[in-house]
Amino acid sequence: MIQILALNLTDIGTRLKIDGTLVNTCWQFAIWGFFSLLLAEILRDSYHALCHQVNWLSKWHNKHHAAYRRDLSIVSLKAYQESQLYHDILESSLLVVVLTIIALVVPQIGLWLGVVYACTFLLGASLRYFQGSIETDYNHLPGPLETIPSVWWVNRTYHWRHHFDDVDAYYSGVFSLVDKVLGTGLSLKGKTIAITGASGALGQALIEQLRQHNAKVVALTTNPDKLPTDGSIKVIPWQLGNESELKTTLEKVDILIINHGINVYDQRTPQAINSSYEVNTFSALRLMDVFLTTVTGPQAKATKEIWVNTSEAEVSPALSPLYELSKRALGDMVTLKRLDGDCVIRKLILGPFKSQLNPYGVMSAQQVAQMVLFLARRDFRDIIVTINPLTYMLFPLKETSTWLYYKIFSKTTEK
Ligand SMILES: [Zn+2]
Ligand SMILES: [Zn+2]
Repeated sequence: MIQILALNLTDIGTRLKIDGTLVNTCWQFAIWGFFSLLLAEILRDSYHALCHQVNWLSKWHNKHHAAYRRDLSIVSLKAYQESQLYHDILESSLLVVVLTIIALVVPQIGLWLGVVYACTFLLGASLRYFQGSIETDYNHLPGPLETIPSVWWVNRTYHWRHHFDDVDAYYSGVFSLVDKVLGTGLSLKGKTIAITGASGALGQALIEQLRQHNAKVVALTTNPDKLPTDGSIKVIPWQLGNESELKTTLEKVDILIINHGINVYDQRTPQAINSSYEVNTFSALRLMDVFLTTVTGPQAKATKEIWVNTSEAEVSPALSPLYELSKRALGDMVTLKRLDGDCVIRKLILGPFKSQLNPYGVMSAQQVAQMVLFLARRDFRDIIVTINPLTYMLFPLKETSTWLYYKIFSKTTEK
């Protein structure tokens, strides 16, 4: 009896050992497999970035750029097939070779997953080359761009910008990881960027930063006297309530930054309530609506953007109830409007910085502006810049739950 029990226990022990080894092997395969896919992505997109820096590489890669018209239809079948041969086939063959060498040197079975992944690119490119078919060329299918650029996944609109917005940005091919690292997920070069609240501390700092990134800035201000008159920037005065008069200006604008605001501090009079909502919430919404009517044309969704400074007051105390209430209302409305996907709408969730509205700010407006652009160029849609660690935890929770609630209980606008 004791002998049988001992045998059974040995049997269970052996089985557990086998199962433990199996689980271990599976884990190893998964981790190395994931690593090899990541490596494939990084190598391919880094090679692409190099093609735009190194002359002899660019010769072949330019065949890819020369094959498409602005609507992504192909220039000719010959140019398309040449681009497949000199770019896609060459690139994916190099990738297969490099990943195979790595998999041979490092004896981990999971690494072969990256080789298989790279082979699918080579297979697709070869089929396109030999058959002249474009069906598997997902990022280059012709036609108007109906969706906004995605955040983590490279869609047609995302990749279109590499061809026709700025060839020195948007290098990623499948996941936008490399662009996020290089800061090439949004190019500001040559873009016309209009900003409200231009005479304020952050407005001024953002203008300086935007100009350093070669953007053309249009300052929209209700205080034109406070801005320089040396002609270094275009100044357009506007009045609260007359937002629709800016339509002609906004038609030529790529990015609208809504940055104006009012802080009535401890007041709670009817006038204070009215002006807080009127300036911080409703004028911002009216500007958004006017700008959205200018997002027309087959490629407008690729380049037109709105950035709204909703401030950290969306989730954290600003020691000013009406500032918090009106900014939270604006933040929630932005979340609601983003559901329609009319164009990219970013939120700027900024902590206290020194300005006329907040003389006790901890950060400087210059530091905040620098960080805003650092994160925007990495395509962050919610740009959080604050010293308050709670905001980094609370904002994503609040944004995700509000987004979900609004998505379930509201309908898209009729187009
Ligand atoms: Zn392309
Ligand atoms: Zn390219």
